[in-house]
Amino acid sequence: MSIPLETTGPNMKDYSSRNICTWCDACGDYGIWTAVKRALVESKIRPTETLLCYDVGCHGNMSDKIGGYRFHGLHGRVIPFAAGAKLANPRLKVMAFGGDGASFSEGIGHLVHAVRSHYPIVFVLHNNGNYGLTTGQASALTSKNQPMNTSPNGIPEETLNSMDFIFSLEPTFVARSFSGDIDQMTHVLKEALSHRGFAFVDMLQACPSYNHFATHDMLLEKCYRVENENHDSNNFKKARQLAVDTSKRIATGVLFRREDIPNFYERLVPRQGKTTTPVEEVEKFDVTKLMEELV
Ligand code: SF4
Ligand code: MG
Repeated sequence: MSIPLETTGPNMKDYSSRNICTWCDACGDYGIWTAVKRALVESKIRPTETLLCYDVGCHGNMSDKIGGYRFHGLHGRVIPFAAGAKLANPRLKVMAFGGDGASFSEGIGHLVHAVRSHYPIVFVLHNNGNYGLTTGQASALTSKNQPMNTSPNGIPEETLNSMDFIFSLEPTFVARSFSGDIDQMTHVLKEALSHRGFAFVDMLQACPSYNHFATHDMLLEKCYRVENENHDSNNFKKARQLAVDTSKRIATGVLFRREDIPNFYERLVPRQGKTTTPVEEVEKFDVTKLMEELV
């Protein structure tokens, strides 16, 4: 007897793809890719109920290595597309993925407005500290003085403190994890998927080809789980402090969360009391007469 689809949950196979991954050996993308699928499956989200949006970068090559509805957009522009899709069809679970290069350069304006607008999407920052796809140039998050391929003497600029920047925008969900800890990443992503508004997830990602300053081994040694140390994720000040100070240890897990602030969609007055979604309300209009008037 076959079991009706509605009563069976999704499984890892539902999110599989026939396409072969092309990341370098030991790239952190493999772990993140696995954790994303696990988080979706364990959250009982079917591929037909999710939209996964990818920016340009090594991580963006995940877009055809995973199931679900997917979009692969322009460099730095993944957030506007993901937010727009979510607002058009709020029944979809929408995740957006971007690298540290794009997200903290040409995409930084979108990131700012996503946090302040409180769009109900998950944003996963693939933070490998460089532009990996274009062979190891420095990003705004590359450590200062670190020699990179187009700056062999080290970058002259200061490194952007990405977590301090995010906290300055008064976010409602901030988490961090590490590409070598699939269990922790899965936990963090499940929490992010259950958040009411914009969830920012800083995913520290090993890039053995070009990042020789925050290696897998270094991250493995420095990262620890805040849930093992009774961290209060309601405490904004403490969360910011933990997020910013990575000198001796790196805090991972859900650092800050609040659920009492309505998200962007919930604040839209024209949507109040509606049970339909904007995509369901799209109608066909005959514009023949209008065109005749314009000609
Ligand atoms: Fe991964 Fe770095 Fe290779 Fe890109 S360049 S696939 S981020 S190891
Ligand atoms: Mg990068």
